[in-house]
Formats: sequence, C-alpha cells, structure tokens
Amino acid sequence: MKAQEHPVVILGLGVSGLGCSIALARRGVPFVALEREDRAGGLAKSDMVGGFPFDYGPHVLLQMPEEVKALLGELDGVRFNEYPGRSGIVLGTRMEEVVPAPFQLHLHQLPVATRARLALGEWRGRSATPANYAEYAAAQCGPGAYELFVRGYDLKRPRFPLEEIPPDWTTRMERTSLRSIFVPTNGQEHREQRFLYPAAGGIEALPQAMARLLPEACARYGSEAVEIEPETQVARLANGEAVRYGQLVTSLPLPETVARIRNAPAEVRRAAADLLYTSVYVINAIVAGPLPPWSILRFPDPALGFYRLSFPSQYGAKGTQCAVTGEISHHPTRHPLSPQQAARQFHEGLKRLGILRGGERAVLESVRNIAYGHVLYYHGTQASRRMILDYLRAHGIHCCGKYGRWRDMLIPQSIVSGMEAARAVLSEPQRDSICGLFGGGQRGRRQGGCGSR
Ligand SMILES: Cc1cc2nc3c(=O)[nH]c(=O)nc-3n(C[C@H](O)[C@H](O)[C@H](O)COP(=O)(O)OP(=O)(O)OC[C@H]3O[C@@H](n4cnc5c(N)ncnc54)[C@H](O)[C@@H]3O)c2cc1C
Repeated sequence: MKAQEHPVVILGLGVSGLGCSIALARRGVPFVALEREDRAGGLAKSDMVGGFPFDYGPHVLLQMPEEVKALLGELDGVRFNEYPGRSGIVLGTRMEEVVPAPFQLHLHQLPVATRARLALGEWRGRSATPANYAEYAAAQCGPGAYELFVRGYDLKRPRFPLEEIPPDWTTRMERTSLRSIFVPTNGQEHREQRFLYPAAGGIEALPQAMARLLPEACARYGSEAVEIEPETQVARLANGEAVRYGQLVTSLPLPETVARIRNAPAEVRRAAADLLYTSVYVINAIVAGPLPPWSILRFPDPALGFYRLSFPSQYGAKGTQCAVTGEISHHPTRHPLSPQQAARQFHEGLKRLGILRGGERAVLESVRNIAYGHVLYYHGTQASRRMILDYLRAHGIHCCGKYGRWRDMLIPQSIVSGMEAARAVLSEPQRDSICGLFGGGQRGRRQGGCGSR
C-alpha cells in the first residue's frame, strides 16, 4: 500500500491535539490529525450515565490564559456558565468541618484551637529556598496549614514521597499570610473562586466545539498509530496504513510515544522507563440523598480512600438528583488497588460522610480507570524527560499536552501547549520541510485543505 503524505501529522485529538490543529488550520497549514477513538476530546470527554453527563475525569475550567479565553469566544454551539467555586477542604471525616477554598482566604473561620495550631506552625518558620515540593508547599501556605491539610491531600493524589518532587512541580499554590489566620483577607481575587463549565453536555461540549473549527477531512477518527519510523518519517496505523509526514506532533503520553518509535536508542527507552505516573479510578454515582452545597471537596484524611469528590449536579446539568464523582489514586506497585476495592472505598467514604445514609446504596455507579492520571515530575525524571523531548525534537517530532510533555497541566495549559507545538512546527528551519519537502504549503493555504497527496 502506498503511503499517504502529509506535511504535518498530529497524533491524538484531545484538547492539546485540537489546540495544535486549530492553530495550524488558522495559518492555512495542511495537516491531518489521527485519533484512535471515534471522537475528539481525550480525557475531556463525557458519557451519559443514567441520563447524567459524567466527565471521564471531573473537569472544571480555571486559570484561563488570554489566548484560550479568545478561543472560547470563537466557539459555536457551546455556552459556558460561570460558577462560584464553592469548593473546600474537609478536615477529618465530617462534612461539618470544611474550610472553604481558597483556604488562604478562610483560615479565620477555623476553630480557635486549630488556628492556634496554625499560628504555632509559623514559629517553625518557612524555608526561603525550598529544596523540594514539601518545603515549597510548607513555605507557601505556612507549616501549620501544610501539616493540617495540604500534605495529606498531596500525598493521596500522587501516592509518591513529596520530598522527592522538585519545588516547581506546580505553581498552583497561592501564598498564605500569617494575618489571614486571624482576620478576613477579602478583596484578593484567588484563582479558585470561580470556574467555567459548559451549560450543557458536560466538559465534552468544549472539545466538540473545538473540533467543529477544523476542516472536515483533516480529522481522522478510528486511526490508531502503532509505530513511528523517524528515519523514513512514516507513522503506521493499526489498520496497516502508512502515513508519511514532514513534521509529527504527538499528544500521546510520552512513554507511549517512545514505545512506538521503531529502533529507539536504548538510552531513550531507559529514560522512558523512568517516567513515573499515578493512575486514577474515577467513580461516578447518583445517590438518593440531598445534594451537599459544594461543587468540589478535597479530603486529606487517610481514613477516606478518595482525595476529591465533585458534585457535578451543582454545575453543568443541574437537577434535583445528586451526582457525585470520586477520584482514587492507585499504582500497580506503589499503591495497588482493584476497581472493586476502589468502589468499596468510595461507598464506605460516602457513608462515613453521611452522603449515603444508613443502609442506602448508590442508585447507579460506574468506575473508569485513567491509566496515566497524574504525571509525576520528580528529581529522577527531569533529565530523562528532557533527554526524550530533545531526541524527539531532533527527529522532527514535537510533543504537546499534559501527557505528551509530561508536565502537570490543566485543560487551558494543554490547549496552549498544542498551540505552542504548532508554532514550533512553523518555526525555521522546519518550515522548509512543511512547504518544501511536500510542496503542499501553498496549496493547502489556498484551499484550507489537508494537503494529502
Ligand atoms: C482525574 C483528572 C481530573 C482532572 N481535572 C481537571 C480539571 O478539573 N480541570 C482541568 O482543566 N484539567 C483537569 N485535568 C487535566 C486535563 O484532563 C488534561 O490537561 C487534558 O485533558 C490533557 O489533554 P491532552 O490532549 O494533552 O491529552 P489526552 O486528553 O490524553 O488526549 C490524547 C489523545 O490521544 C489519543 N490517542 C492515544 N493513543 C493514540 C494512538 N496510538 N493513536 C492515535 N490517537 C491516540 C487519545 O484517544 C486522546 O484522544 C484532569 C485530569 C485528570 C486525570
């Protein structure tokens, strides 16, 4: 079978692949995007379960960079509502003990004894030059607040020693002032106070609207890439097709991209084996009980299996039913857990919190495993990650998205990462291989087509 030829091939149409595709389509660059599934969205998809649009992983939209805000404004067929954050951290295992998020603004609401503990923590001082994430987090939120609830939550999410994670693992933590333990610190706009969510259809309404911006023939679904040959610049698909590319953009998880590289050097394969991650069971249920007045709650207490519960019937598809989604991290060796055990922990936790009462069972339940849930950025990974990205880049392969670049990213940052990959594709000297090697640049630009020949 003769290989098809495309100046740019994109692997994966999650939000990062979509961001890249939209940026290339706007510049008139011919490309084809190959997606394994039957529709776009990746992890930002939603499924109707019991008539309720549950997200694959519970998603809300925060921390929106300007170029993503501009993109949202251009989308047709989707409307975003803004919701008050209404999230919080549950201290212990009682729903009555919740510090509303951002906790940095609400510490003064805590009982006096707890606040005294937080203030005492300040005597231990904050590290000015943190050597790891644990020290960074303690310095940002104060040693007392860190021990009381931040550490427990952060341990349950990645299931990995926080001391082995570099201090710049995340930039999402706002600084707490000692003053905020005693008096309200209103007036500051914190990132978590409000979020956006599609008015209907779950989070998937976002990638579906993004996909509608693409020239139709440029997105090919049911097309799984199984092998990449950097020397011949060919991607092979599960159906036996071969696709020749000038530039390749991949949003596949980085270890999956390396696994598909034919004859990848041994050191690159070894580096890929260094990339650690944590898997997540996402458990959805509709329960009979009343809907708690929260959108998202975090649970540092080790007695509860889940680290987070979301109540999507507070946003998105509103109604009287109480839809609840739990997230439980696991890993085959560091924290083994079967889906049945996870479902049991979820049930027990809901009962303990009083969300399920007495002998009640959830009306409906589904468990989904997200294999690459949280990417782990730890001291041992940095050099390996850099080496893989450099090797791929030297072979005309650009990586984008949370899993493609192996960095903690929310949806907006993953979209931007896709747009950045498009800019890298267009940058010199690669531009020559797009427009010269295949000669499709001008043709694609005029026709807005995919440039296949
Ligand atoms: C539990 C959880 C909760 C989260 N909550 C939030 C939140 O509240 N807010 C937020 O903004 N972000 C959240 N995120 C992060 C967000 O999901 C990611 O940043 C974003 O979805 C990453 O998009 P992506 O396109 O980079 O990757 P993906 O969504 O993984 O897309 C990759 C695409 O590649 C396709 N693919 C895979 N293999 C192949 C192959 N061989 N050939 C062709 N195609 C292939 C996949 O089908 C998929 O469509 C959460 C993540 C998780 C796991």
